[in-house]
Amino acid sequence: APITPPGLPVAADTSYPPTMTIYDKELPVVTVFGDDTSDLGKPRLVILGSGWGATSLLKDLEPNGYYTVVISPTNYFLFTPLLPEATTGTVEARSLLESIRYICRTPRAHFCEAEAYDVHLKEKVVEVVGEDGRHFLVPYDRLVVAVGAQNNTLGVPGVQEHTRFLKTIADARRLRVELMTNFELAALPTTSELERKRLLSFVIAGGGPTGVEYASELYDFLHEDLINYFPDILEKDVSVTIIQSADHILNTFSMAISAIAEEKLRKHKINVITNARVTEVDSAAITYRKKNVPKGEPNTFVLPFGICLWSTGIGMRDFTRRLVGKLQQQENTRALEVDSRLKLKGDPNIYAIGDCATIENPRMLEIVKERFQKAGMDRLTYQQFQSVIGSIVDQYPQTAVHLSKLRSLFDTYDIDKNNVLDLDEITKLLDDVDKKLTSLPATAQVARQQGAYLARKFNSLAFTPSDLRPVVEQTLPPFYYKHLGNFSYIGEKTAVIDLGEGRTGGGFGVFLLWRGAYLARQVSMRTRVLLAFDWIKSKLFGRDVSRF
Ligand code: FAD
Repeated sequence: APITPPGLPVAADTSYPPTMTIYDKELPVVTVFGDDTSDLGKPRLVILGSGWGATSLLKDLEPNGYYTVVISPTNYFLFTPLLPEATTGTVEARSLLESIRYICRTPRAHFCEAEAYDVHLKEKVVEVVGEDGRHFLVPYDRLVVAVGAQNNTLGVPGVQEHTRFLKTIADARRLRVELMTNFELAALPTTSELERKRLLSFVIAGGGPTGVEYASELYDFLHEDLINYFPDILEKDVSVTIIQSADHILNTFSMAISAIAEEKLRKHKINVITNARVTEVDSAAITYRKKNVPKGEPNTFVLPFGICLWSTGIGMRDFTRRLVGKLQQQENTRALEVDSRLKLKGDPNIYAIGDCATIENPRMLEIVKERFQKAGMDRLTYQQFQSVIGSIVDQYPQTAVHLSKLRSLFDTYDIDKNNVLDLDEITKLLDDVDKKLTSLPATAQVARQQGAYLARKFNSLAFTPSDLRPVVEQTLPPFYYKHLGNFSYIGEKTAVIDLGEGRTGGGFGVFLLWRGAYLARQVSMRTRVLLAFDWIKSKLFGRDVSRF
């Protein structure tokens, strides 16, 4: 009979750990990951995701405090801000990735490549599904949801099937290959002129930073590299178009930045169509409708494309939607609502950070009215009013970011500061303020700061007895977002920066600052060196135009 080495099963070993029955399903419960059991017995911290939020939490989390498990379907961290550069080969895809197992080493976290499917709140277990399709349960004491968001198709027919997204490393690689495929097809002697123009029509739906950076990268690639290989077709057949629903591009930046970017794009012959809404996409053309068109003039247009990038924002993942559905307190339809300490509204053991979360804003009007009633007052001096607002901002520090963005909002109202304010005046004012308070942007910067905040908090709570934790936690400061500025690359070695409160800049200096900041933000020395080499390589030898 054939001999099998001892310890190796002939067929797949299907023996499983103990099971738990959840909603009529009997699922295995996994409590130990890997051989290192040194932290078993400590509170169980389960982190879902391996993106900006999760990685920043892991990097600042101290070993010894928890038995930490990271669950994510991607076993790497992806440096998303440079994804547009990977679509043209300015940087290589692998230079943007760092293995999450490498990042897990320092806080001694265990990694499990699987997808969170659901959370069973009463049992305090996450239901997880591996790539083999098998479901299992992972118990937690504290759960951090950092699963990010997914592309938002806005329900436009044909988007899912016919457009490309730019969210994952696979998306960037696919765009790079398809770009070269279209150029090679266009260069075939059998390709008609019309078909060539279609193949080389690049349409970008969404004029936010991703759309603008992709268009700018494309411009650089065309004019620095492809011009050398396809000089005949490049000038007459290539077109790049951005379709934006608002009346200006980069609408999360200041108007001044948006104007600089638009001018640069127009100089680069990138067609910017604003006030236009895409209504349908098929395999070769996009249909859009212009808003505010004078009566009698056409408002619907069809634009053929070879590649269409869809970058119109983000929506909830299925996992997040399932979790929201379980919590009655959740009212937001875009993301998980958390309080100012990043704790999920409706469950004291769960935190949510990054793109999947939104911090609930204080309802200023409600709070002030309540204080009025409690104090039995019907009017306040301006100073008293300011001190009430100050105490709300202390409690919800992120509000301060918006208030300062609203440019000393209170000063824009006609308030007599020597006068007393009655409830009617305050109601009118705060109702308006409440409407103007928006949520924090879905950026890597926010996710990174939230991850670091949770790490600090978890470090200081690690050795607090479990019955005292909720009390101690309330004494720790709430999350405060510090805006460090938004960058956007706009082509030809030019970048723009918006530091908030009207402070903006643009040019080659900002481009150098942009690259420097991204080098500094790398999660490892390995990716820092790889990135620097990629930039030097593409500067010295040009980008690789092989279709690979
Ligand atoms: P992500 O970084 O998206 O991470 C989510 C993680 O969750 C991933 O590891 C994913 O695999 C994992 N996951 C998904 N589903 C599950 C599940 N069911 N269970 C477990 N894990 C799951 N922001 C900036 O500040 N500056 C920029 O210049 C910038 N440029 C950008 C350019 C592009 C092309 C893109 C796409 C985004 C850019 N952003 C930028 C936004 C930034 O990438 C996001 O805001 C940031 O990634 C959010 O971090 P996160 O941790 O919430 O989510």
